[in-house]
Amino acid sequence: TRVHFIPYFHKVIDRFELTKKENVSFVRDFPDEKIIVYMDEDKITQVLDNIISNALKYSPQGGTITFRVEKVEDYIQVSVKDEGVGIPKSDLSKIFERFYRVDKARSRKLGGTGLGLAIAKEVVVAHGGRIWAESQERKGTTIYFTLPIEQQKKG
Ligand code: ATP
Ligand code: MG
Repeated sequence: TRVHFIPYFHKVIDRFELTKKENVSFVRDFPDEKIIVYMDEDKITQVLDNIISNALKYSPQGGTITFRVEKVEDYIQVSVKDEGVGIPKSDLSKIFERFYRVDKARSRKLGGTGLGLAIAKEVVVAHGGRIWAESQERKGTTIYFTLPIEQQKKG
């Protein structure tokens, strides 16, 4: 269905902001314009839920999570940036594989199955978008994904 992305994304983030137990602050950096995306809202919510839970799970006390939305050509680009432990370069491309988890001991303690990002990738690719990660160890991680935007009719 057609989704007005900015208010939708606010709603998803609000739900985490109201229930989170972690001492982590949220910052939202969104453009002031109407961006319409054709998407399966339940599935994209599942993608965001996993990315945001991961960011919270790996954030330090007092850390900040920054949510950003940008328009990049015919796509909306969404990013979620944390100040957590980070992901080693050699693992970056693998975190989107099923059951892949960095540092088994750490991950076991924090819980999870290693499926979240694999499912996220399937959903984003099925929508015609891309998903990737940038990270610096001990500095933090940013997860990005894109989705095609509904084109304005000219005239
Ligand atoms: P699940 O999502 O199935 O509950 P999970 O969170 O371990 O389990 P994914 O969401 O697929 O699995 O993430 C895969 C792995 O990537 C994680 O186990 C973790 O090692 C690493 N990872 C993901 N997001 C972050 C992040 N924001 N900071 C640091 N490491 C991360
Ligand atoms: Mg996860």
